[in-house]
Amino acid sequence: MALTLFSRTRTAPEHTPQSWPEIGETWKPEGVTIVERYYNLAHAVVLVYSTDSDGYYHSIACLGCHYLVTRDNNRNRTYADRLKLSDAAELANAHASTCRALPRKIPARPDEDAARHLFREWVLGIPRRDEDRYLSLADFDSGRLELQRSNEWMYAELDALAAERGDVLSAKPSEYSPSIEYKILRSPS
Ligand SMILES: [Zn+2]
Repeated sequence: MALTLFSRTRTAPEHTPQSWPEIGETWKPEGVTIVERYYNLAHAVVLVYSTDSDGYYHSIACLGCHYLVTRDNNRNRTYADRLKLSDAAELANAHASTCRALPRKIPARPDEDAARHLFREWVLGIPRRDEDRYLSLADFDSGRLELQRSNEWMYAELDALAAERGDVLSAKPSEYSPSIEYKILRSPS
């Protein structure tokens, strides 16, 4: 495993996570735990972040370009379609080694109305299929640097939306665990 990792990156300089610069809270957007950061060649930051409470699964976002990875499409890895830290760090490192985009900041935190509008647009924009589709907060991992809201906030919004738009979204107690299951309901046609 380690040998594979090193041989893959042998032509690129090895990047290591940097210490936090003193630029304030914008580096800790709400709802996102930033675990590691790498600098690209122009000093844009490549973030490895986690949104689940266990901090077990990770996403990668480059603050210079549009590079964003929330799912693992490498079938050789064993963790289905989610990225554990070592895999996420490897991808972030590889991206940082080649990206030349200039640094940008994390987007400004949207106000309450804007955040609600954004989140509802995402939920209601999910294509409906001919069967119900389970929804999890991980489905929104790619937007968390933009949304900047906690998991609790998102659950509350899903509950509110299910109450308003029961034709599209259901929120029901799970049969198997003490949690709520959210589903995008099948297309009515
Ligand atoms: Zn980039």
